[in-house]
Amino acid sequence: MGGRVLAKIIDGKAVASRIRLELAEKISALKKMSGVTPGLAVILVGDDPASTVYVSNKVRACGSVGIKSVTQRFGVEIETDDLIEKIKALNDDPDIHGILVQLPLPTHVNVRKVLEAIAIEKDVDGFHLYNVGGLVIGDTIFSPCTPYGVVKLLESENINIEGQNVVIVGASNIVGKPMALMLMARDATVAICHAKTRDLAQFTILADILVVAAGKPNLILPQMVKTGAVVIDVGINRMPDGRLSGDVDFEGIAQKASFITPVPGGVGPMTVTMLLENTFQSASYSIKNPCTYQKLHLP
Ligand code: NAD
Repeated sequence: MGGRVLAKIIDGKAVASRIRLELAEKISALKKMSGVTPGLAVILVGDDPASTVYVSNKVRACGSVGIKSVTQRFGVEIETDDLIEKIKALNDDPDIHGILVQLPLPTHVNVRKVLEAIAIEKDVDGFHLYNVGGLVIGDTIFSPCTPYGVVKLLESENINIEGQNVVIVGASNIVGKPMALMLMARDATVAICHAKTRDLAQFTILADILVVAAGKPNLILPQMVKTGAVVIDVGINRMPDGRLSGDVDFEGIAQKASFITPVPGGVGPMTVTMLLENTFQSASYSIKNPCTYQKLHLP
């Protein structure tokens, strides 16, 4: 009797709230010990409704753990150089330990130049080239929040990464590529698939751990997944009926996988939590290493 495996659902909301509770305690101890309150600056350009919602979620999350946040809003017409000046002022502000530029920026703004202006010790989103490069050689200051959240979810279930076959579907700069590097750094064997991959199933079926971040509902069907695989669904898709869905056929794959993340309530809550974690780490570092903190800037 083969007997079907019924996956354990990884409760990202519960893991995230556990980490936030621990963070709140650590931040309160930091304040008592040093008088320093971790500070996050969020830059929002224009009035894109989704970006506005994301920023208010981040601001609320900061408040819930005792991080002070300041939001700087700018009109959609702001130029690259003006934005860089604002970032430089935040780089020099000792009350700010993290700087986040909400993406996407308007098309006339040079995103790369803006992200490169952020001091690396305050780059809590991990998008500065220094931190991206650090991922390659395993020496990064801040890991990007979504893949970092996935690693924390795997750790929360004691899922072994070393020596596992990992397949990542999606190769973006903010999810797929850093995810691959972070899992390689933990000695997984990693394959990355993308929109031009021929016969996706031929790769996904080999995965012990399958991470899907493509933004395509129902891209991954049960027959594409190995029995007992760990399936992490990063995708967030708004369906015509208004409901949120991931990239995998959750119902079908839950009958086959050993672990699976739901959408919503899986990877999503972890992303903002890792932003809080990075901001706290930056503030702690500034206290422990006051002489080097502001000198981490690249020329
Ligand atoms: P993106 O559009 O920048 O990249 C998508 C990637 O998926 C590309 O590499 C593309 O080649 C690949 N892809 C697209 N269609 C494919 C297909 N049919 N087969 C194989 N690969 C395919 O997207 P992104 O910013 O990386 O985000 C991916 C998804 O993750 C989106 O649904 C996004 O909303 C979600 N997301 C979630 C979180 C979170 O916190 N949970 C954070 C970031 C992104």
